[in-house]
Amino acid sequence: MKGKIRIIQGDITKLQVDAIVNAANNSLLGGGGVDGAIHRAAGPELLNETRKIGGCPTGEARASKGYKLPARWVIHTVGPIWRGGGQDEERLLADCYRNSLTAAVERGAKTVAFPAISTGVYGFPLKRAAEIAMKETIGFLENEDSLNQVTFVCFGDEALRTYEEVFSGLISP
Ligand code: ADP
Repeated sequence: MKGKIRIIQGDITKLQVDAIVNAANNSLLGGGGVDGAIHRAAGPELLNETRKIGGCPTGEARASKGYKLPARWVIHTVGPIWRGGGQDEERLLADCYRNSLTAAVERGAKTVAFPAISTGVYGFPLKRAAEIAMKETIGFLENEDSLNQVTFVCFGDEALRTYEEVFSGLISP
């Protein structure tokens, strides 16, 4: 199970995987951070499609094509804004991972890559976010055989260190 998980540092828009996940906002009309990078790399057709989708509630996920990206699909999910932890942020972040993986499987994806959802502008504490990302993904992989690989893409050294620490804690408790 855990052999299907990979942690790398890099730019998610460059990855040759079936589906990349976008940390979008409720409008799905693009934004800053990884969302802006994905829209720039995919080209304007992506915005045409996400405009038609018409938004996405926090914790849910919507699929679009990848257009000029190497990835065939983009799964847009909306992470929670961190407001101190008392507003259901942890459950909503877990929902993002589960619903994104479900949407990817529905499109026939075998390989999926995630950014660290909510840990940028939305302010979710990185270590807690990494724990939720990995626990939710491991739980999903235990019940779903069709995925071959899930990649966590870390943007910067700190994220990479944190993800690797959390992952080694999970494999050797
Ligand atoms: P959010 O609003 O969900 O917090 P952000 O885009 O601000 O979304 O940040 C989410 C994470 O994506 C952050 O950890 C940020 O460093 C990372 N990130 C930004 N650009 C990229 C990229 N091109 N590839 C992968 N991760 C990225």
